[in-house]
Amino acid sequence: MELNKFECGYLNDKNISIIAGPCSAESEEQVLETAERLFKQGIRIFRAGVWKPRTKPGGFEGCGEKALPWLDKISAKFNREMKIAVEVATKEQANQAIQYADILWIGARTTGNPFAVQELADFFATIPEYFKDNLWVFVKNPMAPDLDLWIGAIERIYKAGIKNIAAIHRGFTVAEKTIYRNEPMWNIPIELKNRIPSISMFCDPSHISGKRDLISSISQQALNLGFDGLMIESHCNPDEAITDKAQQLTPEDMCCIIDHLVVRDNLDSTEDMKVLRGQIDILDDELMRLLSRRFEVCKAIGKAKKEHNMPILQSSRFKEISEKRANQAELIGIDPKFVHDLFISLQNEAIRLQLSI
Ligand code: PEP
Ligand code: MN
Repeated sequence: MELNKFECGYLNDKNISIIAGPCSAESEEQVLETAERLFKQGIRIFRAGVWKPRTKPGGFEGCGEKALPWLDKISAKFNREMKIAVEVATKEQANQAIQYADILWIGARTTGNPFAVQELADFFATIPEYFKDNLWVFVKNPMAPDLDLWIGAIERIYKAGIKNIAAIHRGFTVAEKTIYRNEPMWNIPIELKNRIPSISMFCDPSHISGKRDLISSISQQALNLGFDGLMIESHCNPDEAITDKAQQLTPEDMCCIIDHLVVRDNLDSTEDMKVLRGQIDILDDELMRLLSRRFEVCKAIGKAKKEHNMPILQSSRFKEISEKRANQAELIGIDPKFVHDLFISLQNEAIRLQLSI
């Protein structure tokens, strides 16, 4: 999949794209004031939720269609220098929003539903070439930590002839309660980028954190990992926001946080990194040699088990190995869970090899 790179909305001299605006468009005055204050700070892409997917019925579900002309007014006020981003979940919403917005994003609840994503993709397949070339579709991760579902949604949109696709990491629902509203599980967006290297990656620290205090550290982590941009919720009067008030920031506070972020955009390897990478390559060679020897011994054990008519899986030994190495890991400062899982994985592979003898 070859996607176009998203290259706009850079904030002042920083080489990262910023999309900012309220969780919901609540009134014409609220979006206008927020957009004016954001524009003054240098923000050039304005987000606002028009149709709000709410967990339970009865809450504020957004102003709907009537909010779209408010967003158009913002765009006109700044001579189209302020781009507009809106969430869409159905083909009817996409059809209305496309007349006013430069970016449509697919929300987490929609990405997880292949029927809904396919409906949107079928709509995108019918839009005129002009829109195909200029419109951007951002795909948020699904609520569940399921990378294939996220990639599947991106593929559906891509197959509709859209190459302007970017991804937004907004964290995942997990069973345990943690400090995050949605667990970041950074390994998932990292793996998405490995699978689709051309994709522009955004992070939405607002929905990951659920509260203002964590937005700075989550944003910095995203930049350390080489993300291309941030989508952050900003409201002219956060404490009065109808939705997501605990996580919204004033335009000024938000831009102050962004000002303090360190952008890592030097892609050249320095001399000290080249030396360190050389060391890693040598260590990896050694690991591969040890792995190969370990599996040879496993195969010999497999033959012996067969000769002596012993079962391949010996649960107590399986458990003993992974627990012993996890305890050892703790003593030498390596994450015990990582080592535990690593040894489970090694032993599963050994079982697979022994089954084929
Ligand atoms: C939003 O961006 O306001 C939103 C509803 O986000 P998500 O789909 O990530 O929950
Ligand atoms: Mn929100």
